[in-house]
Amino acid sequence: MNVQWYPGHMTKAKRQMQEDLKLIDLIIELVDARVPLSSRNPDIDQLGQNKSRLILLNKADLADERQNEAWKEFFQSKGFHVVKVDSRNGAGMKTIQNVIQEACKEKIERDRRRGIKNRPIRAMVAGIPNVGKSTFINTFAGKACAKTGNRPGVTKGKQWIRLNKNVELLDTPGILWPKFEDQEVGIRLAFVGSIKDDILNMEELALKLIDYLKEHYTGLLEKRYGISEEGNAVEILGEIAKARGCLKKGEELDYTKASGLLFDDFRSGKIGRITLEWAEQEKN
Ligand code: GDP
Repeated sequence: MNVQWYPGHMTKAKRQMQEDLKLIDLIIELVDARVPLSSRNPDIDQLGQNKSRLILLNKADLADERQNEAWKEFFQSKGFHVVKVDSRNGAGMKTIQNVIQEACKEKIERDRRRGIKNRPIRAMVAGIPNVGKSTFINTFAGKACAKTGNRPGVTKGKQWIRLNKNVELLDTPGILWPKFEDQEVGIRLAFVGSIKDDILNMEELALKLIDYLKEHYTGLLEKRYGISEEGNAVEILGEIAKARGCLKKGEELDYTKASGLLFDDFRSGKIGRITLEWAEQEKN
């Protein structure tokens, strides 16, 4: 996998995160509900010490609901506040308002003891690329919220979005870097489309996805393509190619085209709601 472009961005992103963290009380960390571990970077736990923490299981609409619940419990058991969201249609947004107050209870209490009244909670959104940060900010902040403009002592150009009288959100999200050194992580991020396809072997990936679906979500490929799941992954990919008329000149099956089609369907949820990492297997 070609990740040559990454280190420069990574250092810059980390430095930016560290700066922004100084300004905020609460980290709203987005993870992809289909790959809740692979789409996280545990560095945030160390960087975000002393901050209130909220994890959003974003793209919950594309993930298996039973697993969404299991992951919610998993992160809660580790002390995080957790909300399942679909940033595209806005599901979960109301709940977040309440959970933010809950997550910042200690800070609110501390302010009260010190006689500080009505200091808004300041939050920032963080997550790896493509996890849905911009979509979330747009949906959550909505049109009703006014930007509060620059504040004294804050880096020029920093904007805060006033969500209500209690909460302000930094308008630029913190970019976290995936754990690329773990190959399994890379593969899962490729499955969900968070790594550019042109640097990957799509057919090889398609075969891996077929094996996973066959084992963990038996019957979904049969249902989507009207094919049999008997046989190995190559045969199944061939069946998909036949079923969808992916042919090269001379009637030869076009596996590359079939792979692309499979991923389009998977990523848009057309095969079903699928989670690629199961909470039960991650007890620690
Ligand atoms: P960012 O790089 O973290 O800012 O991610 P974006 O906000 O650009 O989102 C990446 C892609 O994921 C876009 O195509 C969004 O439409 C899509 N997306 C974001 N949130 C959701 C969600 O909750 N559900 C679904 N189905 N798609 C989402």
